[in-house]
Amino acid sequence: MPDQDLRWLDELNPAQREAVTHGEGPLLIIAGAGTGKTRTLAYRVAHLISRGVPPDRILLLTFTRRAAEEMLSRAGAVVGKLGPVRERAWGGTFHSVANRLLRTYAGAVGLSPEFTVLDQADAENLIGLVRHDLGLASRDKRFPRRATCLGIYSRVVNGSEELPDVLARYFPWVAPWEEELRTLFRRYVERKQKLNVLDFDDLLLYWREMLAVPDLARRLSGLFDHILVDEYQDTNRVQAAILRGMRTGNSNVTAVGDDAQSIYSFRAATVRNILDFPRDFPGTRIVTLEENYRSTMPILATANALIAQAHERYTKNLWSRRPGGAKPLLVTCPDEGSQDAYVVERVLALYEEGIPLRRQAVLFRAAHHSASLEVELARRGIPFHKYGGLRFLETAHVKDALAFLRVVENPRDELAWFRVLGLFDGVGPATVSRALAHVAEGGYDPRAIATSPGPPAAREELARLGRLLSELGEGLPVAAQVERVRRFYEPYVERLYDYPQARIRDLESLEQIASGYRSRRSFLAELQLDPPSSTSDLAGPPHKDDDWLVLSTIHSAKGCEWDAVYVIHAADGFLPSDLAAGSPEELEEELRLTYVALTRAKDHLVVTWPVRYHYRRRELAGAHGYAQPSRFFTEEVRGTMDRVVAEGVRPSAEGAPREERTGYVDLATRIRARWDRA
Ligand code: ATP
Ligand code: MG
Repeated sequence: MPDQDLRWLDELNPAQREAVTHGEGPLLIIAGAGTGKTRTLAYRVAHLISRGVPPDRILLLTFTRRAAEEMLSRAGAVVGKLGPVRERAWGGTFHSVANRLLRTYAGAVGLSPEFTVLDQADAENLIGLVRHDLGLASRDKRFPRRATCLGIYSRVVNGSEELPDVLARYFPWVAPWEEELRTLFRRYVERKQKLNVLDFDDLLLYWREMLAVPDLARRLSGLFDHILVDEYQDTNRVQAAILRGMRTGNSNVTAVGDDAQSIYSFRAATVRNILDFPRDFPGTRIVTLEENYRSTMPILATANALIAQAHERYTKNLWSRRPGGAKPLLVTCPDEGSQDAYVVERVLALYEEGIPLRRQAVLFRAAHHSASLEVELARRGIPFHKYGGLRFLETAHVKDALAFLRVVENPRDELAWFRVLGLFDGVGPATVSRALAHVAEGGYDPRAIATSPGPPAAREELARLGRLLSELGEGLPVAAQVERVRRFYEPYVERLYDYPQARIRDLESLEQIASGYRSRRSFLAELQLDPPSSTSDLAGPPHKDDDWLVLSTIHSAKGCEWDAVYVIHAADGFLPSDLAAGSPEELEEELRLTYVALTRAKDHLVVTWPVRYHYRRRELAGAHGYAQPSRFFTEEVRGTMDRVVAEGVRPSAEGAPREERTGYVDLATRIRARWDRA
């Protein structure tokens, strides 16, 4: 109804309304941070539905599953059809949509639909195995490590660049091994096909390949009347090719992006995708948004001064109608301990003023940069959740548990077998190889493991494993399968890992999420593709009175906003990271990353850097070094900020004995365990 439309269209400015109500054909929204790009996309989905487009004929591509869910909920609320929009529209990341399409059309491209998906660590292990089989590692010690090999492979396939170019440009020291790498990659691909596994890159490659078959392209593109993409500046060439391929039937495509926030070129994303969009989709209407609705003017003044250092930029300076508010603070701290203390004090002060913890976030360049702050927060009893870095699903015990389900789902998945069998005493690579051959002889029936030859010590366990796998294959609900695995696996957790109780609780959480899935296959695939980024994601909707501080890497903070933002470790070597400051392009990306961090803040922005760092490594215990403030905070940028010097803190505030602070994973477990008891 037109009247109803009018009401919610009033919540948009004229440029946003133009984009939201755009009819057929390609549309590009190119605009700076906080100008309402994401909001405009959500309203456009609502508008399309109110105009009669069925929700299941809309595809919304975002950077995380959570973003898609939030936008679809928003759209559903706007048009008063919450359930149908959220449940029926297609929303998610390129990878998760690829997975869904491949399961359906696998047969058409010679793939069997029960393929399993390898995460980064699995893929590295597999390439490591192939590298070992080829004798490449032993022949020359300087042959690139497996993570580097995978990085090169991924660059080539995602950037659609040739191997020699990738080597010359990004990995010049590896260039002498071009031929060996080519062989390695060929074998890696063969091995994946033999095992019926796909890595993340494959999901996109297979999708693109399907679109190269005209008949399939027609069918796939015919599934959707409209496709919308958020954060287009962080897509790679393969994703752009997919988008083109998906629009052979009609050209209804909307993309949204900001070149100044492009922060994934290390994964072969390219801003060119936004710039080339009008060429890829002739007749594109371009809408620009100028007003920032997120931040106060003093915060934008700092962000503008910072990004003014960029050499290439298309979007304009940001402005907002929110002139009030204090200048951002640039805080010099004597050392890390005083940085922690300063941040905690400010967080609590704002909390006292009525800003809940959840509307405040501490951002940092690398996941481990928050280690000492986490200790301080735990010591002071302040709850927090961390995003980015080691994720729940990457922890050893969760991977172990999932491996049991993976071998039942895809008995050819060698990596999963390695993981499961590796739990048993006295089982080494030779036994695993024999066991795999035995399972293969049994026609890939996982139950055959029960009679596999093995050392006497392991025979009993192999027989029990066979019984477990047989139960798992009987069509129990997924949660019940996880429960069986947990019971089988618990004694191993106790034997193999520290803090077994906290880990077992993680497995209970896993059981709880499993209950939301109808099949083991969709459970495994969804988790692998878009894993919950923190344990809080697993807990279901938070209770009203739950409140916690957000800790996040800058990469994981993309698209988000908070009332108060603290950017810590703004020291050279940390931000920019000295691992990513090798070339002018990398440095420029670090600058954009800093810009992303600053533009997350609505009302309060605090940037801190410690002058002195204590080394934690045992051999350097007691040693320290001096830092420089981040080079991005030039005189011009500082001129827009208030400068503060934090007081030093007593050394005792560092708290726990040194040994307890060295193991990062253990620390995370302990901290989690603490909140679990609450
Ligand atoms: P980013 O570049 O960081 O992803 P964005 O351009 O996607 O930012 P949004 O997150 O959509 O921006 O919007 C930023 C904030 O401004 C949100 O809180 C949003 O609700 C608000 N906002 C956007 N447009 C309007 C408007 N017309 N009226 C009021 N508030 C708005
Ligand atoms: Mg956005």
